[in-house]
Amino acid sequence: MGKTREVVKVVAGNEQKDGAGVRLVRVLGPGTVADFDPFLMLDAFDSLDPDDYVRGFPWHPHRGIETVTYLMQGDIEHGDSLGNAGSIVDGCCQWMTAGSGIIHQEMPRPCPRMLGLQLWVNLPAKDKMARPQYRDLKAALIPKVTEAAGTVAVIAGSYGDAEGATQGDYVKVTMLDVALVPGAGWRMPVDPQATAFAYTFEGDGGFGAAATPVGSRRAVLFGGGDAVAVTAGPEGLRFMLIAGRPLREPVAWGGPIVMNTQAELDQAYAEIENGTFIR
Ligand code: MN
Repeated sequence: MGKTREVVKVVAGNEQKDGAGVRLVRVLGPGTVADFDPFLMLDAFDSLDPDDYVRGFPWHPHRGIETVTYLMQGDIEHGDSLGNAGSIVDGCCQWMTAGSGIIHQEMPRPCPRMLGLQLWVNLPAKDKMARPQYRDLKAALIPKVTEAAGTVAVIAGSYGDAEGATQGDYVKVTMLDVALVPGAGWRMPVDPQATAFAYTFEGDGGFGAAATPVGSRRAVLFGGGDAVAVTAGPEGLRFMLIAGRPLREPVAWGGPIVMNTQAELDQAYAEIENGTFIR
C-alpha cells in the first residue's frame, strides 16, 4: 500500500430534534456537503430512553437521494408508498433509493438501547429520478470478518475477500462497521478517488498516518491517499468507515428532497401539493 490518508477535519455535529421530536446528533448536513460529497447527511442515534425517539418520523417524502439506516442495536418500524413494511433491528440495514420519489415513515420502538445512524447518499443528476427501491439488508446478509484486530461487518462495498450486502447501484459506497479490540492497529486500502470518513461510536483512537487522536462521536474526514489506518485506544474503538466518489454536482437541498436546481425542488413540492409526486 502507498500513501496513508491523514485526518483533515473532525466534525462533532450538534444535537437536534427532527421528525415528530426525535433527539439525534446531526453530524453532517448542508454545511458539510462540500467536504463530504457524495454524503449529504449523517444522523447518529444513541439513547437508553425511548422518550428520546418514540415520536419517530411520520409519513414524509424523499426524492433524489438514498437513505441508509443501520442499527447496531434497536428497532425501527418502517412503511412506504411502494408497499414495503417491516422492522430494522439489531445489525440490520435498510438501503432505500428514494429516486423519483417515495413517501415513508420510520417509527422507532422502545428497546434497551437505540444505537445507529442514518446516512444520506446523494444521487448523480442522471439517476435522481431513478425507480425507487427498498433493500432490507438483514443482519444475516451482512458478512462479518473476524480477525485479531477485531470484527468488521461489511454492509456495502468489500473488505478483503468479503463482498458486502450491497455495492450501491448508483454511487458505489463502502460502508463498514469496525469494532477494534484495545490497542489494535487496523489498515485498509481505499479508492484514492473516494471521499472517505469514519464516524466513531464508542471508544477513541488514533486516525491517519499521524495517529491523530479522536474521541467518540466524531466524524473524521480523511485527505488524499490510498489507505486508511486506525489504532484503537485502551478501551477499544467502534467506528463506521464510509467511502464513495464525490459527484461534484450542484446541490439544491429542500428538507427531505435533494435535487440539483431550485426549479427541480419547486417541481417536487408542487407535485406533493397536487398529488402527482409518486410516479
Ligand atoms: Mn425518511
